[in-house]
Amino acid sequence: MRRAQPALAALIALAACAATVIPARNEAIQADRNDPVIRVALATSAPGAAIGATGSWRVYAADAKTLLYRPSARDSWQFEAVGGRIRGVAASGMNMAARSGGVVLRPVEPDAFMVFNGKRYRGEIVIAPAGEALLVINRLGLESYLRGVVPLEIGRRLEPEIAAVKAQAVAARSYAHTRIRTSLGRPFDVVGTVANQVYGGADAETSMTDIAISETRGVALHYAGLPVDGPYHASCGGRTAAAGEVFLGSPDRPYLRSVSDRIPGSDGHYCDIYARSAWTRMLDASEINASLERYLRDHVSGIRGGVGRAMAIDEAGRTGSGRLAGLRIRTDRGSHVVRGNGMRFVIRPSNGEILPSTYFSARSVRRANGDLERVTLTGRGNGHGVGMCQWGAIGRARAGQSWESILQTYFPGTRLETLY
Ligand SMILES: [Zn+2]
Repeated sequence: MRRAQPALAALIALAACAATVIPARNEAIQADRNDPVIRVALATSAPGAAIGATGSWRVYAADAKTLLYRPSARDSWQFEAVGGRIRGVAASGMNMAARSGGVVLRPVEPDAFMVFNGKRYRGEIVIAPAGEALLVINRLGLESYLRGVVPLEIGRRLEPEIAAVKAQAVAARSYAHTRIRTSLGRPFDVVGTVANQVYGGADAETSMTDIAISETRGVALHYAGLPVDGPYHASCGGRTAAAGEVFLGSPDRPYLRSVSDRIPGSDGHYCDIYARSAWTRMLDASEINASLERYLRDHVSGIRGGVGRAMAIDEAGRTGSGRLAGLRIRTDRGSHVVRGNGMRFVIRPSNGEILPSTYFSARSVRRANGDLERVTLTGRGNGHGVGMCQWGAIGRARAGQSWESILQTYFPGTRLETLY
């Protein structure tokens, strides 16, 4: 999970215009279960949506009660945005006249799936106009949602690693539950990408991750008696980060403090098994100039006109866990300091990838005339570094630690309690 805060804010702002036409959470689809419904945005500005199902299905109005159409199992529809409204065209030739509200698409049989752009989804699909495009949301129970998240977030794991899979299930549940509680009034709770948690629907499910989810059903992290989120990242590089080191201005959360991933009695770390833990990026002056011109304004204020030509890129202190606190960027037009996770977004190679972590050192090489020639970044870890280290959890599982112990290591002071 790599949460790109600016991108997420933009998505929410974009989708907010559709808030008035999105039906509220539908209680019907959780009738026989106690888990809450989560609304997962599958697309926030799609020009169209190809919809089918693995059985007969129904098209309802936005109230999720007024039946509009009864497509058969083989019937596929194309929904399109037309002037701020939504139109449906069935392969069978049936047309749904343009509507200003959204539609709710639901399979008839409880074990059938809706299909969107060729992928199967549990629960129901909601489509609503969002400006000149479509917002496509999958509404389903939280436990069903996790079945499409955990395998993509922790990868294919072996039986001796199941403790890491269970820890991942609890962290993902805790994160999603927090999103549900804090997104009231918004058209969806999460997006199905790295901006929140990667979600692949029913096609992503595996029997091992299903077992890990059902054996931890409803369990979430609690702190001081309240449920809390459980952020995680691929690899901490040896020591996790306190939330405030990378997420600037984030409230003080004592359970998100820096934790060592060192294996007792050795120089190694539990996450050293991650092959790409150590990384190097070499950027020449033209890449740096292009990157600063494109991204620097998103992370510092007060830049008018061009950013200028890079003269030097220097380290601006270290955080408590040893991460870089900031980058001092000097150009021929000014000097700026970028702090926290924003550093990963400002200096990018020409392929546009963000830096793996903020756990790095920077070395500048200058030409004889004082111009910047290149910068070499040498780092460890992958992701923001806060909360659970996924590769560390896998290493700990291999070493025989329980999922409860893994979670209580990475989220110190928390308790594991059942939400429902
Ligand atoms: Zn680690």
